[in-house]
Amino acid sequence: MCIVCRQEKEGSPVLDDPYIKTVRAIKTRLGIAAGNRLVVCKEDIPKWREKRKRFEKYVMWFAFLSFVFFVSFILVSPSIAGFAYMLVGIILVMAIPLLTYSPGIRDEKAEEPAQKNAGKPVRKR
Ligand SMILES: [Zn+2]
Repeated sequence: MCIVCRQEKEGSPVLDDPYIKTVRAIKTRLGIAAGNRLVVCKEDIPKWREKRKRFEKYVMWFAFLSFVFFVSFILVSPSIAGFAYMLVGIILVMAIPLLTYSPGIRDEKAEEPAQKNAGKPVRKR
């Protein structure tokens, strides 16, 4: 299934990352795993790339903020309460990139996978 248009399509497989593995583990535990193969279809690669870039930017930005949190904790108030406060702050801050979460795909670097796909999948529409 394409993660952008949510249609049953062929495309570049999505890479397993900790987030996807966690979601899958939870779904399997709950017995609602769809068993879908997640891909990004060729039509949606540009859209995906945009989302992915934004996500990576967020991650970097929030990693930086966490670092600032951490450093200010060390400099200002190295106490147990301060430490708990910092942890909560970092968790909250790191949760925000997940809202824009976008997984990597295997053919990320391949700008035009068209030549390889000689046996084009039949398009359902
Ligand atoms: Zn799609």
